[in-house]
Parts: sequence; C-alpha cells; structure tokens
Amino acid sequence: MATMMDVPVTKIISACMSLGMMVTMNQRLDAETLSIVAEEFGFEVEFVTADLEESFERVADTEEELTPRAPIITVMGHVDHGKTSLLDYIRKENVIAGESGGITQHIGAYGVKLDNGQKIAFLDTPGHEAFTAMRARGAQVTDLAIIVVAADDAIMPQTKEAISHAQAAGIPIVFAINKIDKPTANPEKIKEGLAQMNLLVEDWGGKIQSQDISAKTGTGVKELLEKVLLEAELLELKANPNRMANGTVVEAFLDKGRGYVSTVLVQGGTLRVGDYVLAGKHSGKVRAMQDERGKNIKEAGPSTPVSVLGLDGAPQAGDKFNVFLDEREAKTIATKRTQLQREQSVRTQRHITLDEIGRRIALGEFKELNIILKGDVDGSVEALTDSFQNLSTEEIQVNIIHKAVGPITESDVLLASASDAIIIGFNVRPMGNARQIADKEEIDIRTYSIIYDAINDLKDAMEGMLSPVM
Ligand code: GDP
Repeated sequence: MATMMDVPVTKIISACMSLGMMVTMNQRLDAETLSIVAEEFGFEVEFVTADLEESFERVADTEEELTPRAPIITVMGHVDHGKTSLLDYIRKENVIAGESGGITQHIGAYGVKLDNGQKIAFLDTPGHEAFTAMRARGAQVTDLAIIVVAADDAIMPQTKEAISHAQAAGIPIVFAINKIDKPTANPEKIKEGLAQMNLLVEDWGGKIQSQDISAKTGTGVKELLEKVLLEAELLELKANPNRMANGTVVEAFLDKGRGYVSTVLVQGGTLRVGDYVLAGKHSGKVRAMQDERGKNIKEAGPSTPVSVLGLDGAPQAGDKFNVFLDEREAKTIATKRTQLQREQSVRTQRHITLDEIGRRIALGEFKELNIILKGDVDGSVEALTDSFQNLSTEEIQVNIIHKAVGPITESDVLLASASDAIIIGFNVRPMGNARQIADKEEIDIRTYSIIYDAINDLKDAMEGMLSPVM
C-alpha cells in the first residue's frame, strides 16, 4: 500500500495507530481499514476481485483434444407437478443399459445410460432455486432443463419462474407434461398455455420439444430422455478428458465414518484417486471415489458425478474444483481464498444498482439492463413491461428477464444475483427472507406504487441523473 501511494510505511503505520490499530509492516489490513487509511492520504481504493482462477488457468483445449460429453440436466417446475417423482423414476428404473439394480445412494447427482449407450447426467436437487443458487455462485453446470408441468393442473407461477430462470441462463428447455395417467389430465391445455406465452412446442408447429409422460407409471419417460439427447446434440457438448480435472461441487457433508464427502461433477479432464484437489476453500488428496451406486471407482471423466473422499472440509454447492500437480499449491490457494474472503467482506458493489446505471453506461461498459418485475396485478405488470422496454436506447438494451404477479421472493433475488439484475416491485414488497438475501447479495430492490414514478426513476437512472437515495 505504501508503495502504491508512494508514502513511507511508517506514515501508514501511524495512520493506523491513530485509528486505534497497532499494526506491523507485513500485516494485511482489512478492506475497511484500507479505505480509511487511503483516504487520509487523499487516495480512493478501488477493490477488484482478485481472480485466483487466473493463477492456475490451464492452456485452452484444442479442437482435436475435445471429445463429445454427456449433457447435464436439471429438472424444474411448479411444486407437486412431479419433479421428484420423475427423478426417482429415472433413478430407480432400469433405464440403464446392462446394469442391474437401481441407484441406492443419494449423492446429489447421478448418471444414466440409455439402451443405445448414450449417457445423461442429472442434478438430483430439483427446482429452479437450487439451479439459480448455483448460478449465483458463478457455477454454470446445467446444459439443459426439463420443465415438468402437471397435465391435470395448469401453467403455474413457479412454472413461469422455472421458464424465466432457464431462459436467463440461456439453456434450452424440454417440457415434460406429467401425470397423463390421471383421468383429469389434459396435455393439450398445457400446450395451449405454453403457446400463449409464445412457447410453441413441436405439436403446435414450434421448435420446443415436449413429451407427455407419467412419472408414476413411466409412460413416455424413455421418449423424454431421447428428446433430451436430441436437443443436447444440437449443443455439440464437448470436453477434453485427457487433462487434469475441473468441475463443480454439487453437495458436501461430513460423514461420521468417512470424513468429508463431496459430490462433484467433473466438467473437464479426468479425476483420479490420488489427485490433489482444491474445491472452494478446501483442499486434499482424493482418497477414494464412489459412483451413485456406492461402487468404488478409480477415475471419472467429463459429465460424471462422483463422490470424493479426502478433502479437509465441506465445500459449498456451486464451488469450483480443480486438480493440482502438488498438494502445497492447492493448500496455498485454499488459504489465500479464506484470507481474501475475509478481506473482501467490505468491498465494492458486486451487482448493478439503479444509482450505478448511469455511471456504468457513461463508462461504456454496460450494454444491457436486466430487470425482474413483480406487480400486484397483470395490468400494471404489462404496462410497466412496455414502458421499460421502450426506454431501450442504442447504447443500452432493457431486458425484462422475469415478470410476474406476486410478492418479491427469494427466488427472484437469486435470479437477480445470477443475472446481475435489479428488482422492481409495483405495489408489492419482498416476502419472507427475500430482503435479507437481497442485502447479503447486494441486490437493488425498488418498490413503487405509482407507475409514473417507476418509469421516471429508471429513465433518470439511465440518463445518469438519478439523485441517490438517502
Ligand atoms: P415435486 O414437488 O414437483 O417434486 O412433485 P412430486 O414428485 O413430489 O409429486 C407430487 C405428487 O404428485 C406426489 O403425490 C406424486 O406421487 C404425484 N405424482 C407425480 N407424478 C405423477 C404422475 O405421473 N401420475 C400421478 N398420478 N401422480 C403423480
């Protein structure tokens, strides 16, 4: 710090002392102290997120090194429409060619193999909240979403949310129209509902795949998976299996007998027993690996979920993992991460706020403004959608990434965090934990009761003229 500001170290030490802090020359200061001390000397501190990933960035894979990999799927949809039943059916039934017995262990993800030998990996935590929470942590794991809609019900609020969350992530959707075994099932009504939302399924002349299924009897599930594979083929998913592995943590827990057990999804390379792994703030040597059948395996290639023993703690879902050549390097970075997290507890805004928009536009670094819009009635939501979109200019595009009638929920906040969006509520307020999470994630929530005010604020913000809220 002394070098950067070109002042003697002793002056910084005495500045700290005047703040009541006894420090030594090599001590690391926390973010708040750094800011205050810098200010004393007429400097302003700008915090940048230290990108540790860079320090071990691998050489990019060449086209020849890449081979096709299995798609990774998340199942979403409204509560009680059958997400868990579908995942259970796929897990328990012998969809897997040549393998006897179903999957016994719940490890947070599992793989299936179809008769033709093609594989699919499923994330076993259904729902868009889990999906978007991982995205908010920077993990892009899912390639494609299955959205389950019960044919004896209708397109429900969480169906719409799931659609918005998948769209915001930019991943394709395959609809599973469920419960067709029920006498009251009316799949056509669901397809019509989707059409009204501009989502045309194939039967309706559109491009979106959908399959009528029963998660209870299994009707149509195989066809659903075939459609998923067909859709995935278009994505040309590839990875290089012949390098040190990287991927994402799906879940982790402490097992009394075995120590820390972390389920990871390998996304690139091959993970082997004996590898040195760094996952989030934890590291360790892989002692053993098991698949979802509890079978010990020695290696796991791309798109393979596997539970790993040997880490010195439980990383969080969504943490990335990487393999290192030596244990010390992995440990050092793990320690640095813990330290950085402490120091960055006070830091610059991670997400966009209304006050920030003007400045960011002026800097020319901001091209799209993502908005999540919640309102009390359909009419106001539609009116605001139109007005907001009309504010788009050549410099900046206004995107309404999700709109719905209802209070501002936790899942709205997660979506805002994952997509760097602001949330606008019209005659509605945050519900439950939404406000707390928004504060933690630094998400800007604005609520209005006059349409004109909402539009004007956004307009002013985009012109960089919004007076800051006190
Ligand atoms: P989730 O909340 O989306 O995970 O829904 P669940 O999988 O827990 O299912 C909710 C209820 O619907 C449960 O009672 C299931 O047994 C039932 N259910 C799910 N799929 C089907 C189906 O295909 N047919 C029938 N008849 N019931 C189903």
